[in-house]
Order: sequence, then C-alpha cells, then structure tokens
Amino acid sequence: MKVITTTSEMFSTRSDLADTIGLAPTMGYLHEGHLSLVRRARAENKIAIVTIFVNPSQFGPEEDLDSYPRDLSRDLDLLRAEGVDMVFVPSPDELYPSGYQTWIELAELSGVLEGARRPGHFRGVATIVAKLFNLTRPSRAYFGQKDAQQAILLRRLISDLHFNIDLVICPTIREGHGLAMSSRNSYLTANERERAAVLFEALTTAGTTYKAGERDASKLRALITDKLAAEPVAHPEYVSIADLETLHEIEGQISAPVLVSIAVQVGRARLIDNVWLGVHVG
Ligand code: AMP
Repeated sequence: MKVITTTSEMFSTRSDLADTIGLAPTMGYLHEGHLSLVRRARAENKIAIVTIFVNPSQFGPEEDLDSYPRDLSRDLDLLRAEGVDMVFVPSPDELYPSGYQTWIELAELSGVLEGARRPGHFRGVATIVAKLFNLTRPSRAYFGQKDAQQAILLRRLISDLHFNIDLVICPTIREGHGLAMSSRNSYLTANERERAAVLFEALTTAGTTYKAGERDASKLRALITDKLAAEPVAHPEYVSIADLETLHEIEGQISAPVLVSIAVQVGRARLIDNVWLGVHVG
C-alpha cells in the first residue's frame, strides 16, 4: 500500500495509471461505515484510493476541528488489511497553501438543513472533494448515505462541473442497536451510546408508518419529534422531511422520494441520521 502525502506525488502517481480507480474520501478514525465504502471501491475498480484528511475548511470556528478523533497508524493498518492500493494523507498546508482563495459553493443545496446550521460547511466539503477529484481523477467515488445532504450535493457538483465520475452512494452501516456508525460516536458515554439508538428508532417508526400508507409529511414529522422527546438525553435540532433532489421541505402530501433527516445533540456529540422513503439505496 502506497502512502502519499504530497500533491505532486499524488499527481505523478495518478498519471502513471490507466486503470479504473475507485475513490473513498474520509476524515479518518475509520470504522465499518468507512470500510464498507472501501470494500466497494476495491471490488468495483482495479485501483482503490482512500484519502484521509480532516478538512479544516468544513469546520466552523466553534466546531470540533482540534478535538476531532485521529489515529493514523490504526487507520493505515485497517486499510492495508483491506488491500487498498493507495492512501492519500496530505497536510492542511499541502492542500491550502498560503494565498489559497478558490471556493466552490452550491447556490441552494449548501444553505439548507446541515448547511443552515453549519454555515460554510458545504462550501468546505464541495471545495475539498472537487480538489480530491482533480488530484485522483477517479472513475467512481464512494460516499455514505449517512451524510445524505453531502451525497446529494456532490451528485449535483459532479453534474454541474462536468466531472466524469460515477457517484456511488453506500447504505448506512449501524451498530447492533441501530445507532449509525460515526467517528464522533467516540464523544458519547456508554449510556449515551445506548440511548442514542432512539434516533434510528424514530426514523424507523416514520418509515414503517410511511410504508403503511401515511403520506402526510407533518404527521410523520410529529411521530419522529414525539419519539425523540421521550428520550431525555436527546436534544433535537431539527426534524426534516424534504424532497430528495431539491431538499425543499415538504409541507403537505409526500408524492416523490423524500429524505427524512434529523440532527440531535446527545451529550457532547451532535448526531445526524436519515432514511430515504420512496427509493432504494445500495
Ligand atoms: P467522514 O470520515 O465522516 O467524512 O466520512 C467519510 C465517508 O464515509 C463519507 O462518505 C460518509 O458518508 C461515509 N460514512 C460515514 N459513516 C458511515 C456509516 N455509518 N455508514 C456508511 N458510510 C458512512
């Protein structure tokens, strides 16, 4: 497994490759969710490239950039065991050298849901992913449904900027009791981790009710809100039912695929989770 730390080496290594390339961008502290992307990238392409970069530009000034969990040697061991060909681990200075000033913003998709609560977050995400696309020129890029808005926005970015890349959205990998795996789950105490199962329970209740025929978005939203309200450690930030393509909030009846998404503070962790209704992921 080749570990690359500079853009110049990434460019020259990439230029020598004529094979199909699968890219899985991550911020490290890898878990089974990340590894599901990695396995798929390996299975569907000749070469699998994983990037590990805690991207400063997608963190707000009050957010957890400094405390974000990191364990590079463990990550590299896991990726070696998966048979990954290349890992790109640049430093912040390598990607944002002094004088850096180019940013990508999606006019509408950047500003709603997570974007409304985390100003500048998706500008950072869109910019870093476009840069990684240019550095690695993958045939396919693998992202998790866990970060649904990110995946939807990147699908738009690929189309708008004419990247010749297939975006593959991989299903959310969960703990046994339903909590979506996340590097930030390490902020939770054992008790909070148990109780955080309420996020998926609430989403599942909405999903089951939808499948039974309920199409009133406010009723589904209320079901989720009530379920979360019954768990004292859960402090919901938003409960949204939005069009899966435009991310416009649905007020009346659901007639097209929707993203049901929630953000909930549990202890020190701000957790997000979602399910998609009316469409299959995977
Ligand atoms: P991150 O390191 O949090 O930036 O995540 C890197 C990639 O892994 C993103 O495409 C995430 O959506 C994806 N990912 C994170 N957690 C999960 C999970 N539990 N299941 C599937 N994919 C995930």
